Amino acid sequence: MDLYVQKFGGSSVANTERIFNVARIVTDTYKEGHNVVVVVSAQGDTTDDLLEKAAEINENPSKREMDVLLSTGEQISISLLAMAIEKLGFPVVSLTGWQAGFLSDSNHGNAKIRRINTERLETELDKRNIVIVAGFQGLNRYDNITTLGRGGSDTSAVALAASLHAQRCQIFTDVDGVYTADPRIVKNAKKLDAITYDEMLELASLGAQILHNRSVEMAKKYNVELEVLSSLEKTKGTIVKEVVKVEKMLIKGVTKDDDIARISVIGLPDRPGIAFKIFSALAAKKVNVDIILQSIGRDGTKDISFTVAKNHKELAVQTLEEKMDILGAAKILSNDDVSKVSVVGAGMETHPGVASTMFEALFNLDINIKMIATSEIKISVLIDKKDAEKAVIAIHDAFDI
Ligand code: ASP
Ligand code: MG
Repeated sequence: MDLYVQKFGGSSVANTERIFNVARIVTDTYKEGHNVVVVVSAQGDTTDDLLEKAAEINENPSKREMDVLLSTGEQISISLLAMAIEKLGFPVVSLTGWQAGFLSDSNHGNAKIRRINTERLETELDKRNIVIVAGFQGLNRYDNITTLGRGGSDTSAVALAASLHAQRCQIFTDVDGVYTADPRIVKNAKKLDAITYDEMLELASLGAQILHNRSVEMAKKYNVELEVLSSLEKTKGTIVKEVVKVEKMLIKGVTKDDDIARISVIGLPDRPGIAFKIFSALAAKKVNVDIILQSIGRDGTKDISFTVAKNHKELAVQTLEEKMDILGAAKILSNDDVSKVSVVGAGMETHPGVASTMFEALFNLDINIKMIATSEIKISVLIDKKDAEKAVIAIHDAFDI
């Protein structure tokens, strides 16, 4: 008997009609003779609403209590879905994260799953129950409730699929797969049949918000094949796996990320240890740095620019301003009217000319590139935010995807 793990996001269980829709997908799978473990997120905007509620009471609550609160959203979903499945006449049991055996570290609000004690789950499956598990939550070693970070239910699902050696891990969502670009921006964007874990990781971190990054990392680590598909339309989704057969598709996606700021430290002394000082100061404040660019030294000075997530801009600037003297910097500039536009594709590893095609498309639009970063399977450029949408469209066209 095959085991299916099926995960449904918040919009897929947002109201009664949607819950019954999910109940039908789950029970259809069960009727085919499979065991089914379902992971659900909180309904609709519940998690955001809970965050707001908390802020009304206390603008700085302890992380422990925040997790107690946030974990309730998923508990509502599991019970309602279980009731719907009961109503359809199938054997079902709902389990919270801790009942399902999710043990995590103690990093409240962004906890990592350590392991899953699968005993209870296996007992329920042996009874041929459909098991509904609350995503996004676990228990730390002190028996305190933890949550896994926004979007963390995807990771709950992948962890379950890995621990239970499921044959399938299906992530149902409100889009019907992974596209070559955001279809709202690029009208002729195409749905991909398959994509590698590495490509998906690049796309996810580049702003294509379909899967929680950590879930893809975990899927790669435990070799769990994922299928991203729509809960509302019966169409084939996109498979995420280790190797995708080499096809003529050089580029898998073009993305843009507006959640970015550039910071430049100007007039630094051109000697060893400067970059170290800057980035260790930022690391100490847990500021995540993305693209880094250092200018050539001229007349004994150089500039270092880097990008951070927008919400880290103030902290980064403040951290470095406090260090101006030690660094010997002349000034610090920051700008968040920028976007990062990227192309991703494992094919570029063995194929020259990708960068030049991308840059030519930008040149044709007279768009100036402020920074460039590359990895084996990705090229990113930083450009003015106002140009980002037309850049994505033009680059997508240039690669004839
Ligand atoms: N409910 C949580 C959130 O909104 C977890 C999830 O949806 O995966 O982030
Ligand atoms: Mg999600």
